[in-house]
Amino acid sequence: MSFDNLGLSPALLCALNELGYDTPTPIQAEAIPLVLAGRDLLAGAQTGTGKTAAFALPLLERLYPNGALRKDQPRKVRALVLTPTRELAVQVHDSIRAYGKNIRFNSTTIFGGVGMGGQVQALKRGMDLIVATPGRLIDHLDQRTLNLRDVEILVLDEADRMLDMGFLPALKKILGQLPRQRQNLMFSATYADDIRKLATELLNDPAQIQIAQQNSVAATVEHRVYAVDAERKKDLLIELLAQDSRRQTLVFGRTKHGSDRLAKQLCQAGFKADAIHGNKSQNARQRALKDFKDGRIHVLVATDIAARGLDIDQLPVVINHDLPMVAADYVHRIGRTGRAGCDGIALSLVSRDEQGLLNDIQRLLKRDIEIAVLPGFEPKLPLRTGADAQRAGKPKQPGRSTARRGHVAQPTGGKHHAGRDQRRGGGNGGQTSGRRSGNGNAGGNGGNNGGRGSRSPR
Ligand code: AMP
Repeated sequence: MSFDNLGLSPALLCALNELGYDTPTPIQAEAIPLVLAGRDLLAGAQTGTGKTAAFALPLLERLYPNGALRKDQPRKVRALVLTPTRELAVQVHDSIRAYGKNIRFNSTTIFGGVGMGGQVQALKRGMDLIVATPGRLIDHLDQRTLNLRDVEILVLDEADRMLDMGFLPALKKILGQLPRQRQNLMFSATYADDIRKLATELLNDPAQIQIAQQNSVAATVEHRVYAVDAERKKDLLIELLAQDSRRQTLVFGRTKHGSDRLAKQLCQAGFKADAIHGNKSQNARQRALKDFKDGRIHVLVATDIAARGLDIDQLPVVINHDLPMVAADYVHRIGRTGRAGCDGIALSLVSRDEQGLLNDIQRLLKRDIEIAVLPGFEPKLPLRTGADAQRAGKPKQPGRSTARRGHVAQPTGGKHHAGRDQRRGGGNGGQTSGRRSGNGNAGGNGGNNGGRGSRSPR
């Protein structure tokens, strides 16, 4: 199958060709014709499946048939894409710019953590398409620097994550400002009851697509657990990284403070490392991400805030320095590797106090993960396997109490949950800490348009 038969115009096909996309991924093959036909869509797709192009290509085709903007068409917001995190907003926007590089249209990102001035200026000039996080979008609606009454297509990307992060009231407020007549596309990795309820309220006779099984990870990812005592995790990490110090590796820590400290320790150990998390300014986050994507740093230490939004081409390894507090976040973290059919390795450094979390993850994945011990790092307290592990690790409250106790490699803060970082800053618009970048290509080498929006080449 090729993109040629899906009903996309040459302007888009040329861009795809340049990006090296030969074959549509399954979600693209299914979604593109449905969206082109004007249907509402409910798509269950895990990260890394190519879902951005699945909505962005037909969206651009519908807004600009044959790649053309009608001359008499005034600039107004015709498409709105909502994402849970700033990073995802930047990435989705970059991808849309890359797919639409042969079409003239104005687009920008809107999110918190940066000043409003640049965004207001961009909006004044007139935008056709906006990729936004909900909090800052509402700030603009409240200040009447934006109106959404001309939106023809709404996309909710990673809707489950938006609800996890407490964005439902914000979403409802935004939906109240949209015209009734519009096309709605909703993407979610999981289908909890609240997602189904939102889908019922939002979507009109939607076509449904389920691409990957819920809570599954790419089959191309090899999982391995290294059993290790908590206080030796850092040394084991250094040992594993040293096996190939130039390999791009994403390391997950549990807390912001711990991730910062770990990145510093890795730098002291001679690695090119940086950290990315919610306490850093948007500028610093974008810079670290770009350095990582461009290969200037080899190790990026991230909290779960980074798990959803990052698309780094063919990331070979993800290492969990700490297991996530919520098993589903393991799937999101691991979604950074093994993307688009490439092989990936997911290593987790697991101490005995994380046994319950490991059991939760194995239950979720419906499989056991191979447990290895690196010579020299034999744990004083080994992990339990099989039925023994299930008995030993069963937490009173699944996956929580065990990990908080006695975890010495990271400082306290075990209550920390992925959503919190973002709720404080990820799209809520209250903080000013820098400018965001955008307008790069789908591979993510984004340039900087500093809130001024992007205009396609002539
Ligand atoms: P996404 O799930 O949209 O974040 O996409 C995951 C990765 O797959 C991104 O790096 C895309 O650039 C890449 N990708 C998406 N669709 C295709 C395709 N049809 N062929 C090759 N790569 C793709």
